[in-house]
Amino acid sequence: LVSRKKKSEDTVININGELIGQGKPSFVFGPCAVESYEQVAAVAASIQAKGEKLIRGGAYKPRTSPYDFQGLGLEGLKILKRVSEEYGLAVITEIVTPSHLEEALDYIDVIQIGARNMQNFELLKAAGAVNKPVLLKRGLAATIDEFIHAAEYIMSKGNENIILCERGIRTYEKATRNTLDISAVPILKQETHLPVFVDVTHSTGRRDLLLPCAKAAIAIGADGVMAEVHPDPSVALSDSQQQMDIPTFDAFYKEIQTFMKNH
Ligand code: PEP
Ligand code: MN
Repeated sequence: LVSRKKKSEDTVININGELIGQGKPSFVFGPCAVESYEQVAAVAASIQAKGEKLIRGGAYKPRTSPYDFQGLGLEGLKILKRVSEEYGLAVITEIVTPSHLEEALDYIDVIQIGARNMQNFELLKAAGAVNKPVLLKRGLAATIDEFIHAAEYIMSKGNENIILCERGIRTYEKATRNTLDISAVPILKQETHLPVFVDVTHSTGRRDLLLPCAKAAIAIGADGVMAEVHPDPSVALSDSQQQMDIPTFDAFYKEIQTFMKNH
């Protein structure tokens, strides 16, 4: 169902008036994790000032260690909802288990399925049965074919609004947190009719690589870029090494806009 052979025209997804996959790249910014109302609101104000329409933030955090911050859960979803109403932004947030899906639907606009859950087939099927767009991340060590099949699980249950998100894969390279597989973007666009995003934060794990990788993503035809922003990354409860502070975010955004104008 996700195959280009099945449907030749691009899928366009309307989220809060933002048309995903219509040619012009979209942007998803926001903190790694929801930590407080004030923290999310500070980022939201900066997103709104740029005329952007989407915000991300994790309420359920799939952390490598069980002793790391696990997220605020439902309280985090409530913060996201409040901020989305106050700043006119659509919320993209990760759901980690089918049992959270139903209650989360009232608070969010897009369901994110994270890299660690790309082959959680029960979660894929549950997300496929609801009427909300899904942003599906590529698994940590998933082939492109496995990634496409994960999207197929969602669509096979009826949900046609799926965004694929390349977020880097595990390789022997240690200079970056993961290896951004940039060629996955045109392959996914050839093989499927779905919009394709690139998450420059989790793929690189390096603040200094966010801008060049975002440019590469746009140049190669990505429909959107995701990057993490935190009012004070040094005190962030997760991913403090790679989130942008607000001034860095402002500079990043300005440079990307100039790049898109000249591209
Ligand atoms: C995230 O986007 O918050 C996240 C945990 O990313 P990934 O699933 O790609 O690691
Ligand atoms: Mn993160």
